[in-house]
Parts: sequence; C-alpha cells; structure tokens
Amino acid sequence: MNFQQAVNYVMQSKMAAFAFLPKKQEEIIKGCELFILTYCDMHEEEPDEYPEYNLQYLGGYYYDSSIEEGSYWPEEIPDEAKSLSYFKTFEKSIDPGNEIQITLKQLNGIPLEEARFDEDCEDCEKNILENGRLSLCEDCILKNN
Ligand SMILES: [Zn+2]
Repeated sequence: MNFQQAVNYVMQSKMAAFAFLPKKQEEIIKGCELFILTYCDMHEEEPDEYPEYNLQYLGGYYYDSSIEEGSYWPEEIPDEAKSLSYFKTFEKSIDPGNEIQITLKQLNGIPLEEARFDEDCEDCEKNILENGRLSLCEDCILKNN
C-alpha cells in the first residue's frame, strides 16, 4: 500500500500498518527504520484534541538496545515516510524498549516470546532482517513442499 492507502486502511480498520527502511553500514544492512501508522483510540473520546492516526518512528541497529524514537501527528509526517510502501500489521502494542529486530518480527506477526529469538534457519533470519518481511528461503520452501 502507498502512504495514502495505508492511512485509509488504518482509519477504516482502526488497526496499524508499517513501513521498513533498511539501515546500512558500508553497504551491508545492519539495522532498520520502522514507520508505524496507528489508529489513535483517543480520537474517539476527544476528537478536537487528538487526530485520527499518528506515525511512530523507530530506528536502530539489530541486536543493539539504543533505539531512536519519534512520533508524528498527521500534519508533521515527513515526506520520506510518505514515499514508502506500507504493510498491514495486527500488532498495535509496540514496546520501543525492545531491540529493533524484535519489533520488526512482531510487526510481521511473530509473537513477542518467539520474536526474542532468531529464526531456526539462518537464511530465513537474514530474509526478514534485510527485506523487512517474513519470507521463507528457497530451502525452507522446498522442505515445506
Ligand atoms: Zn530457511
């Protein structure tokens, strides 16, 4: 979904959507930035005070506990965030205190208890950390068929 489609989705479903941007060090992906569009529950109680949605920003390196954090109201959302592709997520309770690979996995539907550990397969682990999306490697696809 593009940004506008993601906003429409979040407002209609009252759920969340996220975008992934890899963070590189010397051309190697070592972390990521996550933009999480979330429906703002407070909007219903106080529509004049709270907008319908907001955008949460998290950025960091994998397996590193220092995380950059930010939050934007609709009118403050940077153009960069509006140019990304968004994916639906059912995860709404993000703890910014977690290392960013844990949050990335949660956004992909992996429960927190499992997200704390690496995937069983190294290639599948690499896939999610580099592409931001849960996808099986070729070997695992073959094994599953
Ligand atoms: Zn695999």
